[in-house]
Amino acid sequence: MIREVTDGVFAETDVRGCNPGFVVTSEGVVVIDTPQLPTRAVEMRKAAESHGPIVYLINTEHHVDHIFGNYFFKGAGTVISHDYVLQEFMTVYPEINPYEYAKEAVPTDDPDGIGLFPDEEAYFADMNQPTVTFSADATLRLGDLTFELIATPGHTPGQIAVYIPQKKTLFASDNIFNGVQTWHYTSNINQWIDSLKSLKKLDLEFIVPGHGPVCGPDRIDAQMAVLHEWQYYVADCMARGMSESDCIENCKIRDRYSVDIGQEYMLHHVIENNVKSLYQKLACA
Ligand SMILES: [Zn+2]
Repeated sequence: MIREVTDGVFAETDVRGCNPGFVVTSEGVVVIDTPQLPTRAVEMRKAAESHGPIVYLINTEHHVDHIFGNYFFKGAGTVISHDYVLQEFMTVYPEINPYEYAKEAVPTDDPDGIGLFPDEEAYFADMNQPTVTFSADATLRLGDLTFELIATPGHTPGQIAVYIPQKKTLFASDNIFNGVQTWHYTSNINQWIDSLKSLKKLDLEFIVPGHGPVCGPDRIDAQMAVLHEWQYYVADCMARGMSESDCIENCKIRDRYSVDIGQEYMLHHVIENNVKSLYQKLACA
């Protein structure tokens, strides 16, 4: 369900995928990330357009759950992102084909969306990629509001968070996983921690995290602690001489949170990849 976080700021946090949203200004609407599930994407576009024309669509990172739904927002404003998001937009790798990953979720999480899901050729012919990109912090102004696009590398290299000072609201993207397992297996955790420190300086009341329910600024410290906990857990295992697989099988962090909505079945996969990533980084450091 799309709910109003504060006056004119809307987000959807209870469906599979990231937490997309939109903000209403005096001159039109700014969409921040797009729902991965077709029915939700169509619904969000309709809800956003009921407040005025969509002028900008901002993608906060390149992961499929933040960008796939762009397809359903064709013709609705200018798509904006960090350079890296465009560079990696729906790139197929041996370990993940993002199109297949998006498709896999539809029968279970959006059966009504099966007919809306584009076939591969149609999808890749026009994905509604960003046409305006930037490589550092950027500021966007529309009507009465300012959108600070803050570069926060760590979870991904092209990560941004979107701050709307007039609303004391931050769309934190995957800088923050609130109350659900953190995915960090391709991340640079040290950079991520530095990015969280920079977000701490903002004047905030509301955070729309990348995953999990809307929260307050206290979750920035909580996320920092989660990242430290992962580092310490894997370092402790290594110091005891445990193998990577023992570290995965005995993982104490497994029970702290479940994985976000619709992805609970992926818990082992998340734990395994998070441990592997850290184990390798600590071993090479
Ligand atoms: Zn992500």
